[in-house]
Amino acid sequence: MTDKLREKLINAGRILVDEGQGDYVWGHISARLPDNPNRFLMKPGCLGIEEMTGDNIITVDIEGEKVLGDWPRHNEVYIHSEVMRSRPEINCVIHTHPEHAIAFSSLGKELSAMSNDGTMFSAGVPIFSETTDLITDQPRGKAVAKALGERRALILRNHGIVTAGTTIEEAVFVAIKLERACRIQMLAEAAGGPKLFVKDEELAAKRSRTNRGDSQGNAFSYLVRRWHLRCGCEMPKEYRAEIGNFDRTGYKSS
Ligand SMILES: [Zn+2]
Repeated sequence: MTDKLREKLINAGRILVDEGQGDYVWGHISARLPDNPNRFLMKPGCLGIEEMTGDNIITVDIEGEKVLGDWPRHNEVYIHSEVMRSRPEINCVIHTHPEHAIAFSSLGKELSAMSNDGTMFSAGVPIFSETTDLITDQPRGKAVAKALGERRALILRNHGIVTAGTTIEEAVFVAIKLERACRIQMLAEAAGGPKLFVKDEELAAKRSRTNRGDSQGNAFSYLVRRWHLRCGCEMPKEYRAEIGNFDRTGYKSS
């Protein structure tokens, strides 16, 4: 069980870097242990997020203390521990420093429904602006968790993003989509500003369609395949492009 979780965490790190969310050795991802909800696996410090291995991933408790592993713990661990403490249903937390989301956060604008990705977040993404500094203690971690509330995504102004998912696939999906939404809106802003938007009467339906549950797993599998194809590494069985590996519940003809 833990081996499978570690493998998924490792693949999630590779995907995040492939999607432009790497920041050298900064940014992190965690996954709650199913048999011990007060502990979670986490990317260690000193390494890139795509460099996780079964051996270097550390185990941390809900107070933010490392309990297992040789590698150092990130100082911003409290984002993970406090979101997990306040949200029992959340099993994965991601904090990255994606360029477009950071640049967008400096504009003081709301994400608007002017792309599929933007529509996904047009109900509002909280902006954490209590500090633009790193989140290096429990009180700040609690403040981030409070600002996130019941949502899946938050922007740390002039700093980065936080996403939370019931699964690793969901947290990764939301992180990728949030960065894309910011990038596409920045493109439109740079070209004079968006003038046409998703119609109000289509907004709610389109928002739910762009964040379908089956899409999260299918997109994650695709991105794992893309990484393995590029490196020429052996494709794990569960991610191969075989029809039995896919969730087809979102398609009218399954
Ligand atoms: Zn950070």
